[in-house]
Amino acid sequence: MASGATVASSPATAFSPHAGWNFDHSYARLPQALFARIEPTPVREPKMVVLNRPLAEFLGLNADALNDPAVFAGNSLPPGADPLAQAYAGHQYAHFTMLGDGRAILLGEHITPRGERFDIQLKGPGPTMFSRRGDGRAALGPMLREHIISEAMHALGIPTTRSLAVVTTGEDVWRAERLRGAVLTRVAASHIRVGTFEYAAARGEKDVLQALADHTLRRHYPDLVDAEKPCLSFFEAVMERQAALIAKWMHVGFIHGVMNTDNMALSGETIDYGPCAFMDAYDPATVFSSIDRHGRYAYGSQPRIAQWNLARLAEALLPLLHDDEKQAIETANAAVASFAGRFQRHWLAGMRAKLGLFTEDSGDAALIQSLLDWMQETEADFTNTFRHLADATAGTEWHPRWQARLRQQPQSADEAAGLMRRSNPAFIPRNHKVEEALAAAEQGDLSVMGRLLAVLAKPYDDSEPQSEYAAPAPEGSDVYQTFCGT
Ligand code: AMP
Ligand code: MG
Repeated sequence: MASGATVASSPATAFSPHAGWNFDHSYARLPQALFARIEPTPVREPKMVVLNRPLAEFLGLNADALNDPAVFAGNSLPPGADPLAQAYAGHQYAHFTMLGDGRAILLGEHITPRGERFDIQLKGPGPTMFSRRGDGRAALGPMLREHIISEAMHALGIPTTRSLAVVTTGEDVWRAERLRGAVLTRVAASHIRVGTFEYAAARGEKDVLQALADHTLRRHYPDLVDAEKPCLSFFEAVMERQAALIAKWMHVGFIHGVMNTDNMALSGETIDYGPCAFMDAYDPATVFSSIDRHGRYAYGSQPRIAQWNLARLAEALLPLLHDDEKQAIETANAAVASFAGRFQRHWLAGMRAKLGLFTEDSGDAALIQSLLDWMQETEADFTNTFRHLADATAGTEWHPRWQARLRQQPQSADEAAGLMRRSNPAFIPRNHKVEEALAAAEQGDLSVMGRLLAVLAKPYDDSEPQSEYAAPAPEGSDVYQTFCGT
């Protein structure tokens, strides 16, 4: 174990023993086929850009002792780290490929004082055996973008990986242009993906697949260890978490942008913030990613794509579902078919809350749909329409129907208004505000991002209702596009 190892010239005392790191390496105890040990490549001049102090505290780490850019750049390893790159495969835009951590290195699993286990992963630490033709590096803009959006997702109450720190490397990275190099430290329940199972299945070694499934079950679904059919129960539980997750995305207008199977985590966390963005005007066909030419990952397609990805997981799990392949396929098909109902249940529950509804009525789905139809027709801003539902739609034919429905429930108008305030964010990471923060950060001014992060940390608090952070992009601004060259 590389306890206290130093991979660069920086002295071993550069990190404090009091930072509170407490590493374990359960993934490294899995069969060798699933990973490869690799050390980060030291960079020229690590500089701290942002350290997430609330997250450090949540992890039981001492933020002051932690404030060492050399650790977050991979130049020195924290005590107890045992770095490795994870192998995985994936369906990218429906095409199967063998992948792996091409520009990420797992330092290990930090165990918090409460006993919770979190992957600590460097994103952009240099090449690994899975880098193919890539440089293993990341640029500052996309890493800060991941920092901002993943923290916003967390504050919105949506399961997500988080960002502990972003550092610059003092080195350039070349994409379409020369950019400043950076490393992000990602914190995740785990980095086990649908693609990790596809990789294990593609190798055709049942014992490797079984070991990965046992590990994932124990780690993320411990209640199911003693289930009668652990593999089927495991798969159903993964589907349930994905159904809940995608519903939450839909409730806030989040578009992941690249829902390949390697970007879907078994923990049920949102992972891999690339060309993601929040929708402004409501339109199910909304796509921001410049490379998603056919709209495969459009806002409205996300539930169907999640089910498609889960079908790939079910395929990978077939050898564990039943010894008889035909029966395994039948079991898998029946399970996958339950996704639509699971998603609908989560989606409807969240939409009712957005409308201030505590009770259920058989007409609710139609009521919600007619609001969405009206929003699409009028190109209404998704976030602000819900936030200001009580006044904004006063002129519509829909409004009295909704008011009548509210009066049917025993809860008071005040209670309904409270539920709506808790369910409809005032602040999402508006694309133009994110770009503004990133542009300033590129110039060395971090204050714009600091203010944005402060607003996004309290998305349901609109004590400043006229805030510039709640406004959609100004009329006439360019159609927003995100790029995958991250
Ligand atoms: P993504 O589209 O970001 O989910 O990445 C897809 C695959 O490409 C993953 O296996 C990444 O590790 C790999 N990858 C992305 N960028 C780089 C890079 N700059 N160098 C090496 N591998 C990369
Ligand atoms: Mg990925």
